[in-house]
Formats: sequence, structure tokens, C-alpha cells
Amino acid sequence: MKVLLASNIHPAAVEMLKRKGEVVEAAGASTEDLIEMISDADGVMVRSKPKLTKDVLEHAKKLKVIGRAGVGVDNIDIDYATKRGVIVVNAPEASTATVAEHAFGMILGLARKIPQAVANVKSGRWDKKKFMGTELRGKTLGVIGIGRIGSRVAEIGKAFGMEVIAYDPYISAEMAAKKGIDLQDFDELLARSDFVTLHIPRTEKTTGLIGKKALEKMKPTAYIVSCARGGIVDETSLYNALEAGTIAGAALDVFEKEPPEGSPLLDLENIITTPHLGASTQEAQENASVTAAKDVLAVLTNDTPKNAVNMPVIAPETLERLNPYLTLSEDIGRLAIQLASGRVEGIDVVYCGELREIEELSLLTNTILKSVLAPILLNTINIVNSEIIAKDRGIKVVQGVSEDAEDFASMIIVTLKTDSESLELKGVLFGDLHPKIVGIDGYDLELVPTGNILIIRNEDRPGIIGNIATTIGHHGINIGAMQVGRKNVGEAQIMALTIDQEVSEETLTSLGLIEGVLSVRMTKN
Ligand code: NAD
Repeated sequence: MKVLLASNIHPAAVEMLKRKGEVVEAAGASTEDLIEMISDADGVMVRSKPKLTKDVLEHAKKLKVIGRAGVGVDNIDIDYATKRGVIVVNAPEASTATVAEHAFGMILGLARKIPQAVANVKSGRWDKKKFMGTELRGKTLGVIGIGRIGSRVAEIGKAFGMEVIAYDPYISAEMAAKKGIDLQDFDELLARSDFVTLHIPRTEKTTGLIGKKALEKMKPTAYIVSCARGGIVDETSLYNALEAGTIAGAALDVFEKEPPEGSPLLDLENIITTPHLGASTQEAQENASVTAAKDVLAVLTNDTPKNAVNMPVIAPETLERLNPYLTLSEDIGRLAIQLASGRVEGIDVVYCGELREIEELSLLTNTILKSVLAPILLNTINIVNSEIIAKDRGIKVVQGVSEDAEDFASMIIVTLKTDSESLELKGVLFGDLHPKIVGIDGYDLELVPTGNILIIRNEDRPGIIGNIATTIGHHGINIGAMQVGRKNVGEAQIMALTIDQEVSEETLTSLGLIEGVLSVRMTKN
């Protein structure tokens, strides 16, 4: 077997691969050279570069596996690899301990002002009084995001005798209790913590999460630490809070712009910084290469890889038959998570009609789970690991079948249960190919789940629909399609509006204020 190393892979992993076959080291090769070398490779390993696009992969005639020595797989065209039956493996856990230790190092650095004190002694001074510190034992550590890294930071905090509290709206209370973690809401965590540490991905929701309002809720003696991603902490608000002394200090490993050239934050005494070192240890680097290399070898020797990112290899004819249902599953999951509020506790999926006969239903369920969890976990979730991640988060998944598909040949019914509601979506394929949502919470609709869709619940009274359309028009937004679902005259209705562009918060607020409107949700599909 021949494995192409398109990036610098740790020597321990290279040795491991060499013991089993031919290894071609090609870090830094041009795209043309890469295309030539990949043509007869059985496996290829990369780090975050180079890009393995369709244009490169289509030349790989024998390729069975791509190993990513790290977590993110943005540089690999996963869809194309899947279509070609190429398994993509990665190393999601490789840097967990390393990043957690760095975050804790930052906490210790802040508590004892270690970086400032080091600089003081090195400059020939001995200002002992200036560096009076804070003991960690007995203090409250607030962990935002209790995934892999956050959970490890929580364990370390406990070992230091800290009281650990956490905020993560996507972990069930039951699961948090199993990890011995006391879940709090966001404001409570900020108000109580002596140290707040961030371990969340950067998403639309988390960008600027730690801004002026959040910082104002923290104690003047509290510290904030971010070893997550730049942009989650709003740097202007952080500067203002640090300068005014409304919080005691901050530690940043990550910045909105890296390096943070010219940032006024760098002039402040009460901030400590590192150049995105979170994952930079020998062990994490070695671990990432070795973990991925082990899986590359597993695939090449027909064994089961531990961290496959894409679909297990399925016969092309089965895949072709399943593809429209995979799209429908993805659509239902995506819409459900945008419409529901609260912490996800369970997902029930019922496959109805002819669909119940197919063997690969769990693949569809895993696609729904992936799509429900994707806004939170981004590209770390995939249809291979979604079942296990849902289980880890205490989400109960129930899969069933039913003969009754109403007026359709097949139907998928998904019920998303959160701690505050239960939302039911029904999806079907029109013409065996085109996904449509035909029911939301018992209301009949016929909604194509693509584009910007507003879902409005309103009372069944004259004039409300007109007011909604007028308000949307006033905000300069064009309505492409409108559906109204109603159960009985006089009962609340549901309205689905497909609009030409995303609406602003201001428009959503105006819609919510219309008399008779019960709820408004914007979804992007
Ligand atoms: P993970 O997916 O295991 O955990 C992320 C957690 O954040 C999940 O539990 C999720 O439910 C939670 N979350 C998502 N949105 C949230 C929100 N709005 N509020 C509260 N919680 C929310 O990821 P991980 O492996 O623990 O990594 C955490 C982050 O660390 C990653 O996003 C990554 O960007 C960052 N990271 C940084 C470095 C570095 O060099 N500094 C290295 C690796 C990872």
C-alpha cells in the first residue's frame, strides 16, 4: 500500500506507516505535483493544509482513506470523498488535554500574575508587593461550554478545590449531573464566577457572546479566560472593562485578528496573552498524527476506524436510492432545531409507509441528529459520530416505524423534545426526489425547506395575516411564498413565509408586537 503524506506528519506516525507499506513524504508540494502523486496512492494524510478539493481528489484513482492529523476537516471536500467511497478519518480528541491545560495555565497565570512577575524580575526589579495573588481553592470556576475541553478544565478546577459551575444550553441537566457539574444559566454563571473560561466554538450565536452586557454582569474581582476562538470575546468591550477595572483581568490565547497587531489590549497591564498556543504541545501534535495514522491503517487493512468523519462505505446503488431521504432528513433536522426553544432532551423519529422497509434507517436517524447538533458543534459532528455524541449529551433517541404514511408513499416524522416544548415535523419527498415539510405540530402545510423561512404562530382572527404581510413589506422584504395551516376555525394558526432575504432583529421584534401574533421564528435553510 502507498500512503502519501501531503503535510508534515509526526515522525512517530511516519514510522508506523512505514512498517506497513510505502510512504511518500510530500509536504509543501505544488498542486500539480500533489495531483500526480495522489493518482496511485491508497491513503493520504494531511494537516490543515493543503486543500484536498474535488479537483485534486478526482485524480486519486486508488484512494480509500484520507487521514486528517487534527480536528477540523474544512480543507477536505468530504461530500466528494463520500461520493467516491473514500473514508475520511480525523483525531478529534488529540488536543483536548493540551488545550485544557493551557487554559488552566492561563488561570494560574492570572491568579498569581506570573507573566507580569516574570517580566518584573527579568527587568532587574523585585516588586514583591505589586504581585499579591489570589488563591484558587474555594473560588468559583465558571466554564462556558462543557464539551471535551470544558469538561477537562472542570475536572482540573475540582482538583484545585474550586467550586465548578457551567453554562452549556445544549447539554442535558441529567448528563451534567453525571459529570458532577452544576449547570447554571448564563447570567448566574457570570455573576457568581471568580474565573470564567470559554470552551465553545465560534458560531453566529457565540460571536460577541462576551460583550459589554456580559462583562457588566461579572464581579469586579473576576477574571475571564479565552482559549476558544477569536471573536467570541468582543475585544473593544473587553478593553473598556479592563481599563475601567470593572473586571480584574483577562487572558487571551485567541484574537479577532491574529496576530493582534496594534490592539490597545496589548498595552494593558491586567491582560495576559499567548499566540494561539492552545494545541501546541509535542504530545498533542504527536497524538493527532498517530491517531489519524492508526485509522488510515485500519481502513487499509479492512479494519474499522475509530474516528471516521463521513459515511461508512455503502454500495453506490444503495446510496443513490438513499440520497433524497438523506437530504430530507438533513432538512427536517435543520428546521426542527431552528424552530424549537430550550435544551434538547430527546428526538423521536418514525419512518412511515414504504420507507420503513429499508435497512439503513439508522443512517437517516444519524443524519437528523447531525443536522440538529450541527449549529452547536459545527464540523466536529458528522453522521458517523452523531449517535454517540447525542448519547453523551443525554439526548434520548427513539427510532420507530409505522405503516401509516397518511396520503403519501413514505413519510418521516420527527419529534424534537426540549425541556420547554415538544415539536413535531413531518417530511416527505415529492416526485421521489424533492423534500417538503407537510406538517408542523399537527398543522398541515406544504413547505419547501430551502431559503429564508419565517414561521409565525398567530391567533385566527381577521386582519392579522394582512398586518404581518404589511409589516414585512414596510421593512422592504419581499415574500416569495406563503402557507397558512389551521386545525379548526378560531384556533391558533401557523404561517410559513418564504422570503427573499434574512430579516433583521428589528423586523422580528415588530412582527412579534403585532396584536394576535403568538411567536415568530426566523430560519435559514
Ligand atoms: P466540543 O464540541 O467538544 O465542545 C463545545 C461545547 O460548547 C459543546 O458542549 C457545546 O454544547 C457548547 N456550546 C456550543 N454553543 C454554545 C453556547 N452558545 N453557549 C454555551 N455552550 C455552547 O469542542 P471542544 O473540543 O471542547 O473545543 C472547544 C473549543 O475550543 C473549540 O470550538 C475550538 O474552537 C477551541 N479550541 C481552541 C484551541 C486553541 O488553540 N486555542 C485548540 C483546540 C480547540
